[in-house]
Amino acid sequence: MKPTEQLLNEILDEVRPLIGKGKVADYIPALAEVPANKLGIAVCYNDGEIIQAGDSEEDFSIQSISKALSLTLAMTLYQPDEIWQRVGKEPSGHAFNSMIQLELENGIPRNPFINAGALVVSDLLHSRLSAPQYRMLELVRDLAQNPHICYDKVVAASEMQHSDRNASIAYLMRSFGNFDNEVMPVLTNYFSYCALKMSCVDLAKTFSYLANKGLPLGAKKTIITQTQSKQMNALLATCGLYDGAGEFAYRVGMPGKSGVGGGIIAIVPGEMAIAVWSPELDPSGNSLAGTAALELLAERIGRSIF
Ligand code: GLN
Repeated sequence: MKPTEQLLNEILDEVRPLIGKGKVADYIPALAEVPANKLGIAVCYNDGEIIQAGDSEEDFSIQSISKALSLTLAMTLYQPDEIWQRVGKEPSGHAFNSMIQLELENGIPRNPFINAGALVVSDLLHSRLSAPQYRMLELVRDLAQNPHICYDKVVAASEMQHSDRNASIAYLMRSFGNFDNEVMPVLTNYFSYCALKMSCVDLAKTFSYLANKGLPLGAKKTIITQTQSKQMNALLATCGLYDGAGEFAYRVGMPGKSGVGGGIIAIVPGEMAIAVWSPELDPSGNSLAGTAALELLAERIGRSIF
């Protein structure tokens, strides 16, 4: 069943009391300034219909949701082995910015959605593209059908000023020979991808390709193959929410990707892409009210991949 705008509004009203019970990300100072009471949701059905409620057209920092886009871009540029010999496909069970497994596992990150893995993917993009930031922007503008999407330079700069941990992760991987380029330019690109400013409507449209076997909204040609789309959804379902992936699968039951800006995208393969936004996070760095909204939506429309 297609969700209605009324249903989305009801769901937002039900989860709103959770605001105040989580914590806005403050390790990136520019993110700490975002008002905690923002709440939005948008659904993009595969036929192109958009259903939305709350602050669904307001831009926010997509942060780690961009990791799904950079992996998609890498999939279009590399053979599978070239990617998967450098990054694994297993859930990490650790925080998104953990480096504990890297030391034990020869600098190979567990999966492409923790910071270490996304940095390797950014390194791959850096090696193959002459202007990776421009290419990424072009890709999201095309997918979202919105030429106004841009990077938030303040957020990117704020992250660069507090980049010790991500830089350490990259240098550790470099010491193991799993990083080909200079660390700083790759970090700069990675922070820009994270600092993409998009709304729930933009994100739901953007990720429509994962609900539609690799075919972007309004496009005639797939961006990745049906097989790659299945693989992306499998990785999102197992690794997309870090050490909260099991809990998210249990409660929501959809492939998903979160970001510390408070956004989450979720996919119902064959039907729709969903984006929610509420800036306060749970201890794993996933949107508290956003997860609850997706859980209610999944239940009310009777959808789960399980
Ligand atoms: N830019 C953030 C970081 O690297 C992304 C983290 C996230 O959204 N989980 O720390």
